[in-house]
Parts: sequence; C-alpha cells; structure tokens
Amino acid sequence: MKRDPRFDILFEPVKIGPVTSKNRFFQVPHCNGMGYLRPKSLAAMRGIKAEGGWGVVCTEEVYIHSSSECDPLVEGRLWDDDDIPALAKMTEAVHEHGSLAGIELQHGGYCSTNHYSRIPPISPSPISVDSYAPIQARAMDKSDIRNFRKWHRQAALRSKQAGFDIVYVYAAHSGTLLTHFLSRRINRRTDEYGGSLENRVRLFRELIEDTKDAVGDSCAVAVRFCVEEFLGAQGITSENEGKEIVEMLAELPDLWDVNISDWSMDSATSRFESEGYQEPYMAFVKSMTSKPVVGVGRFTSPDTMLSLIQRGVMDMIGAARPSIADPFLPKKIEEGREDEIRECIGCNICVMSDELSVPISCTQNPTMGEEWRRGWHPERIEPRNSDDGVLVVGGGPAGLECALALGQRGYRVILAEASQELGGRVSRESRLPGLAEWGRVRDYRVLMLERMANVSIYRENPLSADEIFEFSAEDQFDYSHVLLANGSSWRRNGLGRIHREPIPGLDKLKVFTPDDIMDGVLAKGRVVVFDDDHFYMGGVLAEKLRREGHDVLLVTPAPDISTWTHKTLEQKKIQKQLMDLGVELATQTNLTAAETGKVELSCIFTERKIERECDSLLLVTERIPNDGLFNSLNGDPERLTNAGIKTLKCIGDSFAPATIAAAVYSGHLAARELQAEPQEEVPFLRERIQI
Ligand code: ADP
Ligand code: SF4
Repeated sequence: MKRDPRFDILFEPVKIGPVTSKNRFFQVPHCNGMGYLRPKSLAAMRGIKAEGGWGVVCTEEVYIHSSSECDPLVEGRLWDDDDIPALAKMTEAVHEHGSLAGIELQHGGYCSTNHYSRIPPISPSPISVDSYAPIQARAMDKSDIRNFRKWHRQAALRSKQAGFDIVYVYAAHSGTLLTHFLSRRINRRTDEYGGSLENRVRLFRELIEDTKDAVGDSCAVAVRFCVEEFLGAQGITSENEGKEIVEMLAELPDLWDVNISDWSMDSATSRFESEGYQEPYMAFVKSMTSKPVVGVGRFTSPDTMLSLIQRGVMDMIGAARPSIADPFLPKKIEEGREDEIRECIGCNICVMSDELSVPISCTQNPTMGEEWRRGWHPERIEPRNSDDGVLVVGGGPAGLECALALGQRGYRVILAEASQELGGRVSRESRLPGLAEWGRVRDYRVLMLERMANVSIYRENPLSADEIFEFSAEDQFDYSHVLLANGSSWRRNGLGRIHREPIPGLDKLKVFTPDDIMDGVLAKGRVVVFDDDHFYMGGVLAEKLRREGHDVLLVTPAPDISTWTHKTLEQKKIQKQLMDLGVELATQTNLTAAETGKVELSCIFTERKIERECDSLLLVTERIPNDGLFNSLNGDPERLTNAGIKTLKCIGDSFAPATIAAAVYSGHLAARELQAEPQEEVPFLRERIQI
C-alpha cells in the first residue's frame, strides 16, 4: 500500500544541529525496567523501535555519576568507561535501521536517595530527600558544582564514544538536579547560582555550553525542559518562568524537547487526560526558538500529528507510550496502513513495570519487553506447524489476542463468543467513567481479525463441553486444538486478601458485585463499596455510583484508595477526584459483617468496631476463574482423544485472573506456543551477571 500523501510532511527529514533525523517521529526517553541490568533486552527493544520507523530513538534517564542512583529502580548508568559497551549495544541496534540514538543524561539531586551507593545526595540547598526515607541531601558548594559539570562533560564524551547522536541536558520532571537549581522552592542559594531567575538558570546554561563544547561538533545537544510544574507561583509555569527560561536559552541547544511535570502529569492516563493534553502548556515554545521542538501527549492519531506540524505546534512528534504500544507506528503510516496502528490506551501498565523494576510490559503490545528474552517481534511470528484447525472459546482480551496471533501464524481459527459483543471485560470496563480508551484493546484486534480469511468469528455462541466435543469433527469446523478464554467472575461472598472465609450476614443485605453493576443492575440508596482488590475497580465504581446520585462510602483495608494505582501514577488523582465528588472514604478499615440495613466496619489495627447504615453493599474483592468448561473437557480424556482434540488449554482470566495486560499476554503466549518445540526449563533467556 502507498502512504496517503497528506502524511508526507511527517516523513520530511529534520536537521538537529550536526545530525539529521530521517523523519519527524521521535521516541522520547522512557523508562523500561531494563536499564543497566538488562542491556541486551534494552538494545533489542530499542532496535525494534528503530526498525518500526522512529527517526530518533532515545534511552531512558541515564545516571551519570555514583552520587546519584535510584536503586531498586533500574535505569541507565554511565558512571565510568565500563558502562560504555552496554550502551553501545543500543546505539548499534538503532543505527542498524538508519535512526538516530539519543541519550538522556541524568543526575537526580535530592531525588536520588542513594540507598545503594550510600553517598549523601546533593542539592542546591540542604533538603530532605524526595521519599519518606530518613535522609537529607547536603547543599552543593562551588567545588561540587564544578564536579557536577565535570561529570556531565565526561558523560557526554562517553555518550559520544558509545555512538550516540543526540546528547540531552535534562531539566524536566521533578527529579533532576537541574530542575532543583531552576526552582525557587528548592534553590535557596544566595550565590550566583541562586536568587534571580538568571542565577537559577546559570547551571542549566553552563551545562548546555559544556556539552556543546565537549561533543557538539558531531552530536546534537538537546534539552528536555518542563515548562509547567502545576505548583503555581512557587513553581515553573508556562505563563511565567517557563516562558522566560525558554526565551533566555532559545538558540543555545540544538533541540527543545518540552513537557509538563511531574511524571504523573507528563504520563497522564486516559482516565484523566486525552490525546494532546500538553499542547496548551507547550505551544508557546516554537515562537521563541528557531530550533526544532519536540512535544508529547500520547499521540496515536496520524491526523493529530499532521495537525500539530501544520499548525506549527511542534517539529517532531514525541512519543513514549505510543511507541511502546506500537513500535511500528511510523512504518504503518508510511505504508498507508495507519488504520492498523495499535493505539496506546493510556493505562500505564508500562509505568508499573518500571516501578516494579522488571522489564517493561504493555497492555496493547504483548511482545514489549520480550524482544530479546523470548525473541518476540511485534510484526513477525512463526508460521503454523500444521494445517490443524484451532477453536478459541471466549472473545475477551485473551481470546481475541490468541485468535489474532494464531491467525497471523496462518492457522485456521474459529473464535466462539457467548455474547453478541466481542471484547469481554474490556468492552464492559470501557463503559465505566474515564475508561473509554480501553476499548482500543478490542477494536484493534477485531479490525485485524475481520480482515483474516482464515479466521471465522461466531458471536452469540456459548459453547458447552458437549458441543466442543461434537463440533470438532464436523467438516464446517474441524479443529484439533481448543483454547479456552472464558474469563472470570467477581466473588459475591467477600473472599479476598483480608477475608479467607465469607463475610457473615451477606444474606441480610442487597449485595452487588462489579459484574452486576457493569451489567446494568441498579444499586439502591446508600451504597457501601468494600474494596479489597486495590486496583482501579473499587474507585471507579464508587465514582460511577456517586455520579449516579448515590451516597457512597468506600471502605478499604489499604492505607489509601486504589492503592495499586500508585504504580500507574494515578493514586492521588483518583483519591482527589473521589473526595471532590463527595465520596466518603474509610481507609485501613475492614468490613467485618453485614446486617439488615447496615454493615459493621472495624479498624484494621485495633479492631474497634462501628456500624454504618446502608441499603446496598458492593463487594470488590476477588475473582473466580471461569474454569468449569476446562474442567469438564479435561475430566474426560477418552472423549478428548476420540474427538481428535490434541491440545486443551485454559488462558487469560479463566486460568488466573489478573490485569487485562496479563490476559492479552497469556493469549499471545499460548498462540506462540501452539505446536512449538517444548520449552526449556526456564522459558526465556536471562541476562546473567558474569563471574
Ligand atoms: P479474559 O480477560 O481472560 O480475556 P474476559 O472475561 O474478558 O476474559 O472474556 C471472556 C469472554 O469469554 C467473555 O466475552 C465471555 O462472554 C466469553 N465466554 C465465556 N464462556 C464462554 C463459552 N462457554 N463460550 C463462548 N464464550 C464464552
Ligand atoms: Fe499505552 Fe498502556 Fe501500553 Fe503503556 S501499557 S504503552 S499506557 S497501552
């Protein structure tokens, strides 16, 4: 297919100082949980981005000196020459596809607690570290500032040696030493590095100049700068100091990569922000510099990208998450296949992996993080090993992905879904407040499946074990492999983390589960929501019920609401939103019993009890895998053999309830493994420490 000429502008080369990007697609720095510990995984992942057409592919933040580290988080490291070979792997992988490699040099200042190095953190002024750790950063004296400049210069030279084409001076998000110098809240110095804005900008300016001096002959020097901190007059705002700083340094760097802060604002989820949400803050930058400007905003629509360039908002389309969800986004536009873009859904499961210090994963892209260790490619898959037919039961995220990957392998696939609608939990959950974009998990897969001649989809087909046995030999179907993706159902008895026995008295009160609410069953009157699940569901249902006019009390044994959403950068926003809506919150509280017209709550520490009147109780605790069908089929091996069924497997939530990302991954894995060589003892490669 040929690309739509409207999009030609996106494929124009862009000169960035001494180097040139082949197009306007710029994978901005993003964390990935691989970092210095897993360089082969990292190089393979970045290489695939380059193969997918990103003109520039950057690292994550790369710490430049032992006085700044963030263990146990796994980011990049360039402390000395020995760190060069690992990073060179990445530049080689990126250069192989004609893209530029960028490195984001980082010193975290007081946001580096240095638990590993045990070196006291440094800061413009003495200050407590950014976590609750009982550590304070010490103020930098002049020799510290000189040293910092020296370390940065050395890191720039090492970056060049490692093959990077673009070297960043990083003053964005809230955790960089340079932003601390820029900030009037943090920088309380009285020397030439503190006080007036000009003084606070001094180190930023010096670092750009140092970097240009060190490597500017052959490398572009980019800055990453946050133009809005959402801290009012005490912070950098796009109206005042953000603008003044850009004006002061306008022509100094070779490229401006601008965003908003902190990370939860920069990587806002779709529950709170939609595509292009940063434009109002960063749009001024282009009018102040002749240098190329990069911006981000979860851009997945080629029309939005086109408009951003045509309206002069930015010169290059920056993307972290859209490049994770679809590393081949640029190639798809280039080849006129833009409708095949696997759009990011803005769920921040990718961020969660980084927060957990494990290799990055993604809801939309099951191959993300598996490029090296399992050899998975987002666009290529092993062809089928036989002409056998495969039945996939259940059209939720696991079943859809499984059918798609099997279809791509060339198998003849029959996908049977009980209901009229495909998508399973994704369709249901995407109708909850703020989660509409999650429907993209279904939309992408259904679109691709409907184009496949070797895949037949049967809606409104709730299959029983007998039917699965009987249909297998029918000419019309004829399958030898059965993959069951029947999903899971929310418990109605309160079993979960805190209750290992059912909650007493539930027969005396009207009890609802999330499935009921998503099915449209109406709660009555005052509702108590008991959340022992701790991800988004409890909070989002409390929000829905409150918006529908109920008095809502949200009870959780956790220290805060939807506590796992700290990992997706949403917790504060969720709790604030619920408070603003008037949902009453009871944290560190158990729900110990139900009675007619009331529930009994108890403090998780003292077990002191109180009663609360209510009309409805919504239990968000745990899910039961829908594995009945699997057990029926599996319990009759003789009939399986007679029916010619060689493979029977349960996948997704019906195997083990977890995230949507886990369901997609499970479906993909099962498709890859069908009739493949048996696995080694450890089913993926590991990056071992060499001894
Ligand atoms: P997962 O997250 O594992 O994909 P979901 O709960 O999202 O699970 O999806 C399961 C899907 O399977 C639902 O759409 C459901 O209607 C469908 N399903 C469950 N049992 C059957 C069955 N026996 N036959 C066909 N479809 C089924
Ligand atoms: Fe987007 Fe979610 Fe994938 Fe992250 S995990 S890239 S937010 S779809």
